[in-house]
Amino acid sequence: MNKQIPTRELNIFAEASQVFTHMDPAPFDAVSPPIFQTSLFTFDSYDEIADVFAGKSDRYIYSRGDNPTVKELERLVASLEGAEAARGFSSGTAAIASAIVPFVEAGDRIVAVENCYSDAFRLFEKILRKFGVETAYVDGKDTQAMLDALPGAALVYLESPTSMVFDVQDIAMIGHAARELGVISVIDNSWATPIFCKPLSYHIDLVIHAASKYMGGHSDTVAGLVAGSQKLIDRINHDSYHYLGGKLSPFDAWLVLRGMRTLPLRMQRHMENGLTIAGLLDRHDKVTRVRHPAFQPHPGNACFSGYGGLFSFDVDPSVDVPSFVNALSHIRLGVSWGGPETLVVPALAALQLPSEGSSFQRFGTSPHTIRLAVGLEDPGVLWRDLEQALERASCSA
Ligand SMILES: *Cc1c(COP(=O)(O)O)cnc(C)c1O
Repeated sequence: MNKQIPTRELNIFAEASQVFTHMDPAPFDAVSPPIFQTSLFTFDSYDEIADVFAGKSDRYIYSRGDNPTVKELERLVASLEGAEAARGFSSGTAAIASAIVPFVEAGDRIVAVENCYSDAFRLFEKILRKFGVETAYVDGKDTQAMLDALPGAALVYLESPTSMVFDVQDIAMIGHAARELGVISVIDNSWATPIFCKPLSYHIDLVIHAASKYMGGHSDTVAGLVAGSQKLIDRINHDSYHYLGGKLSPFDAWLVLRGMRTLPLRMQRHMENGLTIAGLLDRHDKVTRVRHPAFQPHPGNACFSGYGGLFSFDVDPSVDVPSFVNALSHIRLGVSWGGPETLVVPALAALQLPSEGSSFQRFGTSPHTIRLAVGLEDPGVLWRDLEQALERASCSA
């Protein structure tokens, strides 16, 4: 197969210089920000608390609202995304829910991409539908179908590339059209990170991150963020954040801040390793398809300056998927992604989920699709492991 991998200009080191703390002044000139592990902040006098409650002065009150360590991360992510503001959440899923709820009401329609993250799908189907908000799913790679679905929608929900099948959207076209029509546009940018894609520059309104993945980068925390204009983040603050209560803990914010310091370097390595392994899989005779944006040309690829290391591939039906997974020795089996270690998860296992409410059944995910989160290891070690497991799983089939 003749595949063209676009050459991308990487401006990684310019990005890296932004990954520093903004705390001013940094206590004791510490190079790493302190963890303000406190639930509340006290007041010196009645007048002080009265002024703060009356909105006459601004300061920390309670950590479900604002916390200095969390604020550091919010500032950093806003700056990397080119956003006016950002808000931290206890998970990517809390970020998704809190970013959507303020902008929809009964009778509204959401347009979402097919194969969006499974728990975003469940939010649409199990919660929002109950409150009279309908979601229409559109094949996101079909730009005309997306544009046709926008008029009259309240919100469009994107994820480029999508979960498990890695379909790209032309976010520049969709973002522009949504802005013209006054449709709020939201994108899950966890895969590309701001290192490889800045959706706000394509007129997208709100950018979501599962910081549990690449931003945290070490498989040791669950966290989420939303970035956008001050006006929209204020709307989230006033209409969901404080009451849904999915706030980010200071310690988890600190772990993400620590991860962010190496984000550009890790992304570069995830990309290189991912492209190497995807290329080798593409040439393997037991692999029928590689679902990696670089191997599926689409105009929306132009919105990325680089690629994440998460993708999937379809194995030939003669490969027994459980045997393949069991035969891996270095690569481990597990959900999530974005850490240093390479992980695999087969769609077949996700298809075992109770069919009610599962996006995998709904969008017809193939039982032969296997997702690979390529980590930071030596790609030679990864390839030898994949090759021997494909070999063994084909024999036993
Ligand atoms: C994991 C994931 C999420 C959810 O993040 P959590 O922190 O686990 O809630 C959202 N979007 C994508 C694309 C993900 O992979």
